[in-house]
Amino acid sequence: MASSLRTEATEARYLEERSRAGFSEGCNLCKEVSKKEFTYWRIIHNEYPYDRITSLHDMIIPKRHVKETELTEEELEEFQNIKRTSYRGRVSVYP
Ligand SMILES: [Zn+2]
Repeated sequence: MASSLRTEATEARYLEERSRAGFSEGCNLCKEVSKKEFTYWRIIHNEYPYDRITSLHDMIIPKRHVKETELTEEELEEFQNIKRTSYRGRVSVYP
């Protein structure tokens, strides 16, 4: 448990959901409703936050389901802008 950034309670919920194969039916992140939308990115509620190190439960994800290495220059630029502005230090990042 010590290696997780989640508290024990949240980690337990996460592992339980994972064991029920809840994460195998498509991409859970892509199914989440947006709290805020940008051109290439969106903010979603993180159901399994890293609550050992933050009280914030928002996560920023690319609208396209891609690996970090597949992000375009435009996507990376917008991401940097989002981080620099209102969401500075306030969201988890995925990927
Ligand atoms: Zn996805």
